[in-house]
Amino acid sequence: MVETRGAKAARSGGVDPLGVPLAKAAETSRLAGVLEQSFGYQSVRDLLEHYPRRYLTRGELTDLAHAKKGAVVTLTGTVKHLVKKQPRRNLRILEIRVADAAGSGVWSCTWFNQPWHGSRLPVGTLAAFSGKLEWRSGRLTMANPGYEVLRESDEAEGFANEVIAVYPATKDVSSGRLRRVIGQLLDHHGPLPDFLPERLRQAHRLVGRAEAMEVIHRPPDLAAADRARRRLVYDELLVLQVGLALRRRAISDGEGGHPLRSDGPLTEQLLASLPFTPTKAQDRAMAEIGEDLARSRPMHRLLQGEVGSGKTLVSLHMLLAAVQSGFQGALMAPTEVLADQHFINLRALLDGLDQAGRTTDSPTGDGRLFDFAGPRIEVLTAATTGAARERLLAAVAAGEVDILVGTHALLSEGVDFQRLGAVVVDEQHRFGVHQRVRLREKGDNPHVLIMTATPIPRTLALTLYGDLDVSTLDELPPGRHPVATHLVAGDPALRERAYQRVREEVAASHQAYVVCALKDESDKLEIRSAKAEAERLRTEVFPDLRVGLVYGDMAAREKEATMNAFRAGELDVLVSTTVIEVGVDVANATVMLVEDADRFGLSQLHQLRGRVGRGTAPGLCILFADPASDEGRARMDAIARISDGFELANEDLRIRGEGTVFDARQSGLSDLKLARLIEDFEWVTKARADAFRLVEDDPNLAAAEHRALRAEVLLRLGDDRAEWLSRG
Ligand code: ADP
Ligand code: MG
Repeated sequence: MVETRGAKAARSGGVDPLGVPLAKAAETSRLAGVLEQSFGYQSVRDLLEHYPRRYLTRGELTDLAHAKKGAVVTLTGTVKHLVKKQPRRNLRILEIRVADAAGSGVWSCTWFNQPWHGSRLPVGTLAAFSGKLEWRSGRLTMANPGYEVLRESDEAEGFANEVIAVYPATKDVSSGRLRRVIGQLLDHHGPLPDFLPERLRQAHRLVGRAEAMEVIHRPPDLAAADRARRRLVYDELLVLQVGLALRRRAISDGEGGHPLRSDGPLTEQLLASLPFTPTKAQDRAMAEIGEDLARSRPMHRLLQGEVGSGKTLVSLHMLLAAVQSGFQGALMAPTEVLADQHFINLRALLDGLDQAGRTTDSPTGDGRLFDFAGPRIEVLTAATTGAARERLLAAVAAGEVDILVGTHALLSEGVDFQRLGAVVVDEQHRFGVHQRVRLREKGDNPHVLIMTATPIPRTLALTLYGDLDVSTLDELPPGRHPVATHLVAGDPALRERAYQRVREEVAASHQAYVVCALKDESDKLEIRSAKAEAERLRTEVFPDLRVGLVYGDMAAREKEATMNAFRAGELDVLVSTTVIEVGVDVANATVMLVEDADRFGLSQLHQLRGRVGRGTAPGLCILFADPASDEGRARMDAIARISDGFELANEDLRIRGEGTVFDARQSGLSDLKLARLIEDFEWVTKARADAFRLVEDDPNLAAAEHRALRAEVLLRLGDDRAEWLSRG
């Protein structure tokens, strides 16, 4: 179990008055076990940050007489009668009759196989019920309604308040119970310390923290709840951004980097030899990077751009800037398939350069002539072994290799560069911050470019990568068509039609991917596995086609052989797990089938479909999925409807919320309890500006007015993520 912040604070010696363990607080001692089990809460602070999901107001209630039949309504009433029935062995029905509080009649509520509601709603309980009101067997009935107990027989809470907080609840702990316990905590554990510097509070006209905490749980009206929320949202975002500002300072602080020239013979040749004209976005990115490289402060920049937006050119341009300045460059990819792919692509681009025998001015400007024999590029992966590996490492150490491509094996012991000046990391989200730091130590403070094909909404980039500068390729090379995406649910005829489309594409000399969620068969889940699917396609569906199989942990050589065969057009259909997700570039592939598509994330699906239609022929992507949940359906609908990666990412964030974003824990996004990055974008930018200014002025948060904030940052970000702070 992950230690919560409250527990951390308690351990660190009661810095935080709210760090009291739930088991030790009188109000919660009896509930502590349930709260830990249901929500993972350990301290009073954890529970106080269990914010209401919504509010129930007297105004939104209707009475039975005016309630619209067939619509979802909220009604209040008193439980008059309760029966339990068990018509079948596995079916238990709970039915209650409720008398409308307005005195206009009686209706029924029923629950199936959830008998525990009975004990929460004994006869005499006053509660608000929300659900669809329908006629059933001659009675007005709500099936499985949500409800909020307003008054138990011995308690007078009721609608004394105009507004009642409704909490996320579980089977073991109801919203009403949470409301009462949180109320008791608020009464006995105040006042809450306010860590916000007064000038910021005033600048944004925010209420005090203690008041915000009180009001969010027990608002006099909705407007007050809103003001409380605004204050707490700002707090969450500010602390997160202060953490990022500190990290950024630690990473790119100081001098010690080497200026590189991004205009020189190699980059010139590269641009002159291209078979195409760079897009405006590529030009802009190369210029932004060029400016950074010219400085002695090492660059830390994120290059984000959709699959196919042409990141390779931008990265090679940077690597060549290093080479023509007398340094080495490295490119690090997350998988071997990708490392090989990059190597092949870069080498193809370098082949256009004809530098052998040419001389030019020395990069150091000392007047000597400098001989470029043409940059030497090599690849290092797990497949590089024995004497070949020894030779390669020696050449790297001697500075004979100009550009080294590889997996994170590049970070391992024994890989020593002579003068590493520029590093490109592909697909940032698979590398942690620590690996980034390690990479930087490999070289002589190299400039670092991180590339990602996962489009990130701007608001998220500011929080997730707040410590990096960002360049965006927001434009695809001309002539690209969005990949037509279709969803196929259970219909076997449509599946047959999809296979027919594959045959048609192959007949037109194109190729196809079939992507599966799993490698091996699983008996528990009904998921098509890559291995079984390859077998089935080979023998039953496409006996006349050449079907290959590739998955992540296959032997490196075998994987390489299969990928090469597919590239060379010796295979028609490639069945795979998501090893092909990123970077695989086979322009001749035009159709992709994805099995169990709802098991993939939206950004993953978007990347996957970017693999087809890379050439001039339009791409087609067919998703097989029959999602059971609303969320699943919303996601599948989004991917079929939206072709722009940034828009899709926004939609994904809207559907799933920020806690589920990759890297959420490490980035601190999981600390966001109230803030919603899209809706609260305005506050994201405000908090960011405040945080960066604050850290600029007071890097160690040592000023008296920043001490409380410092404690909060340490507490919230934990030992790992606040390491930059403690260092100072
Ligand atoms: P990414 O890595 O961003 O997914 P790539 O760099 O692999 O994209 O480029 C995708 C394809 O587009 C490659 O075949 C590349 O040669 C081509 N390409 C890149 N830039 C351009 C451009 N400006 N005009 C036309 N084609 C381009
Ligand atoms: Mg790429």
